[in-house]
Amino acid sequence: MTPATKAGSTRRSSTSAESRAQLAYYLGVAMFTRTSTVQPSDACLCGSGHAFAACCGRFLDEGLRPETPELLMRSRYCAYVLQRALYLRETWHPRTRPTAIELDTETTWLGLTVLESATQDETHGTVAFTARYRVRGATRVMHERSRFELRRGAWVYVDGDTSDEA
Ligand SMILES: [Zn+2]
Repeated sequence: MTPATKAGSTRRSSTSAESRAQLAYYLGVAMFTRTSTVQPSDACLCGSGHAFAACCGRFLDEGLRPETPELLMRSRYCAYVLQRALYLRETWHPRTRPTAIELDTETTWLGLTVLESATQDETHGTVAFTARYRVRGATRVMHERSRFELRRGAWVYVDGDTSDEA
């Protein structure tokens, strides 16, 4: 899909953060928030140990498609860290995608641990993970088992079972 066709299908109800992400996308530059930045040679935010550019940066900044549900899940975690609402939108199944993706600017993501990834068949996969974060001074851990679907040749996030603990 080209940026031009994306522009044609963009809804007008986007949040300001999403609008900024779109602007950055069209300008072809990476958008970084005040609190979260990453350079291409930095260790990827997803914790893989690879450089960002060779890991999730390929998907966030170069438009490549994650080849597996786990790679998509990792890149979506990075998108949350970097507040890349447009990427979250594009990789969310239209059936379950929220009308507006609101990113909580009070949440600081601290790290991701992928516990298990599995594919049920050629078009369905699950990834279980924990994500640590800090919100209003408290550190918490989110557990999720996410479901992914291969749709039109690209893995997309469908939904997940989540729990949260202090
Ligand atoms: Zn990564």
